[in-house]
Amino acid sequence: MYFVDNNLEKDIQNVIAHLKNQGFVYQNSEIYGGVVNTWDYGPLAVAMLNQIKSFWINEFIRKEKNFLIDSKIIMNRSVWKASGHLDNFSDYLIENKNNNKRYRADHILKDLYPEMEIEKYSLEQLEQIIKEKVKKYDGIETNWGNIRPFNLMFKTQMGAIDNAASETFLRPETAQGIFVNFKNLSRSSRAKLPFGIGQIGKSFRNEITPRDFIFRTREFEQMELEFFCEEKDSDYFYRYWIKKAKEFVLFLGLKENNIRLREHSKEELSHYSKGTLDIEYLFPFGWGELLGIANRGSFDLEQHMKFSNQSLEYLKEDGSKIIPFAIEPSIGLDRLLFALLIDAYEIEKLENDEERIILKLNKKIAPYELAILPLTKKQANEAKEIYNNLLMHTNLRVTYDESGSIGKRYRRQDAIGTPYCITVDFDSPINNTITIRNRDTMKQETISINEIENYFRNI
Ligand code: ATP
Repeated sequence: MYFVDNNLEKDIQNVIAHLKNQGFVYQNSEIYGGVVNTWDYGPLAVAMLNQIKSFWINEFIRKEKNFLIDSKIIMNRSVWKASGHLDNFSDYLIENKNNNKRYRADHILKDLYPEMEIEKYSLEQLEQIIKEKVKKYDGIETNWGNIRPFNLMFKTQMGAIDNAASETFLRPETAQGIFVNFKNLSRSSRAKLPFGIGQIGKSFRNEITPRDFIFRTREFEQMELEFFCEEKDSDYFYRYWIKKAKEFVLFLGLKENNIRLREHSKEELSHYSKGTLDIEYLFPFGWGELLGIANRGSFDLEQHMKFSNQSLEYLKEDGSKIIPFAIEPSIGLDRLLFALLIDAYEIEKLENDEERIILKLNKKIAPYELAILPLTKKQANEAKEIYNNLLMHTNLRVTYDESGSIGKRYRRQDAIGTPYCITVDFDSPINNTITIRNRDTMKQETISINEIENYFRNI
């Protein structure tokens, strides 16, 4: 559902302003007026993304004994013919001739009829409904043109000669880089079914209406796994990866109440898909797809066999040959980051009628795990020594701040989600102790300086 409630709209604008202020996101090319709904990530978001990616690698690749690869963004153009993207990867676009703006037909209808099952209607029917029912949209009278498909792949050109043969595309998903390397990987790793191949990387889609902050952008990052197995096991693994994906987002700290699982209806399924389930998150504008798990059958490998004339069959131990099925958990990093940030954002009223903004981020993914704060500048040398020691001798994500009152510095750390602050005070050099303040409870405890590393290892 895409309708934006006014109050929610205001809230989300506050959150975005907060994230910009603090250094999570910047407007892309801001000094030139920006690019529509395009965001750059500042150091705090990058720190979170790195954590998320390394947890994904641990959970989806390492612990599962799967393989991680890194294929290219620009591939042989035949890849996209075989995968179906050249012919079918389109959204339906309709133009309001009164303001010359183009919209996604399905978005217009979802705004007005959230429960409508758009997949059940033909293009002509959708066009008719919009023309008949939507007389005003986006604050303006309408004069609709015809609905037409619009291919979402970004065209580019490879090499110095600009002709039809040099035309190619930026990848709209990372998955195809995995399928076309299936043979290479099985050979070089002597991998036995079932096994998975994953990759993390940028994908590009020329979205008609990028919107909703980092939910729908034209450049985004995906973490995709293709888990190859025999057909008879595919339903088991489909369920397995659904469970694993759900556990993963909960492990990162999303609140269970804010997610739901939605299985696609028959009408919604791509023609090759044997089953697709989205994990949705309750974004400020309503439920939206956070990630998807699909049983893609043997469709992709078969297509690439057909178009490349190469065998992508798998030789079983009994000598028979099969084309494996692929189960695909596909996670968008940007949407996951958005969900984690919005889930963690809270404004808390304090006793003295003050307010504090906190990002209650899970320690695993917070940009910093702890901040070192000298109580006054007098303790700066002592505090810096602790800071440098932790940087040099531990992997802790640690920051340092000495400017402003201690109260202000606590607020600053609350606002970026740092779960612990270490205060170095007058007693520190005398007793060899520091105070640890907990972000959520604001409670403080005193421990020995030598205990810091151990303390953080155990919480
Ligand atoms: P939607 O229906 O919202 O356009 P989709 O079904 O086309 O999404 P998939 O092709 O399944 O998305 O892509 C897998 C994941 O990649 C999505 O679950 C989402 O997290 C992410 N993703 C897809 N398109 C975008 C985008 N334009 N911006 C940010 N993330 C995206």
